[in-house]
Amino acid sequence: MSVNVMGIPADYDAERDFATSGTVVCGDCGTRVKPRTLESLPPHGCADIQASKRATAYAIAVMNLLHAEFPDLLVGNGFILDQHGYVSCRIMEHARRPDPTLEVTLDHPLVANWRLLAEPRQPGRVRVGCFRVHLSPQEAEREGRVNAALAAIAEGLE
Ligand SMILES: [Zn+2]
Repeated sequence: MSVNVMGIPADYDAERDFATSGTVVCGDCGTRVKPRTLESLPPHGCADIQASKRATAYAIAVMNLLHAEFPDLLVGNGFILDQHGYVSCRIMEHARRPDPTLEVTLDHPLVANWRLLAEPRQPGRVRVGCFRVHLSPQEAEREGRVNAALAAIAEGLE
């Protein structure tokens, strides 16, 4: 069963659901509500729920990419990228309330070569930057590849 970013199944039939259960899943945010008719749904914080789900979906997609692209961030002494959810929380906050000054260190804080930054052309989205003075060809290639993938994620969630 395929569901969209709001958690709504592709084959969801609102009329049948309403007829059998007396409730319906909001087609905009995926929340189950109990309307009097299908013409209008009761207030349920729809815009806020949508923004929250979009921010969560964006953060998950970005984190999946970062984990795939930066396996070497798993460095000694138990430091694991985002083991406390800090990075994903910052991405979600940024998606909800864009912060042009966003800067999150992705590798070990004592190294801090790789950072997550606000994407200036798309408020609420992120890019990565390598802060080494002289980037190796591999680092330059990785920076370009990851930012292209981040742009594709942002576009896919428009
Ligand atoms: Zn809704």
